[in-house]
Amino acid sequence: MLKRILLVLMLCVSLGLTTYAADNYINLDKMHIKSNNQMTKEQYKQAQKIIKQLQKETPKQFDKNYGPFLAAIYDDKGNLIAKAQNSVIPGCDCTNHAEMNAIRLAQKKLKTYDLSPYNLSIYVTAEPCIMCAGGIMWSGIKNVYFSVYSKDVESITGFDEGYKPDWISQFKTRGINVYGGIEQESGKKVLTEYVSEGKTIYKPKRKCN
Ligand SMILES: [Zn+2]
Repeated sequence: MLKRILLVLMLCVSLGLTTYAADNYINLDKMHIKSNNQMTKEQYKQAQKIIKQLQKETPKQFDKNYGPFLAAIYDDKGNLIAKAQNSVIPGCDCTNHAEMNAIRLAQKKLKTYDLSPYNLSIYVTAEPCIMCAGGIMWSGIKNVYFSVYSKDVESITGFDEGYKPDWISQFKTRGINVYGGIEQESGKKVLTEYVSEGKTIYKPKRKCN
């Protein structure tokens, strides 16, 4: 009898723990989030808050010829380490994407080329392009949160995001967590605003096959 009671008790505890664990994570499919790891509700709330703020700030620099992308790097205590917008046109530098600019600022601030000991996260208003995905990988940043997917960036603006097959799984093998598709609808609006204001789509002229 005692054995049976113990067994029932153990079953209840384990069921309770499973339910608690499931409750603590968001349903990625339901939220249209592409990811290589689970995401807690707290993580999602924090990412939503930061990305919403970035989306609000991005258009403020359109008049200064800044591009429609903004990136911010935070440490694991929620401190802002660096924030930068795409400055390809004002900086006359095709590598001045928001993520690259933010990484440069963070590395200068922390006086190191390797950010991995700092357990940093980068939040971006759009999926990193081929160059920025590379930059993030070599920077030592541990988590990537972004809003709009590359396919939407390309269809709304005409920017070329480059060929990045399976990059989210590739990042997983390097210990980098990626969470994409956060606050997508408002993210698309920022890009649409940039285009409708007639701003420059900066890219090299090339012959296409
Ligand atoms: Zn980029």
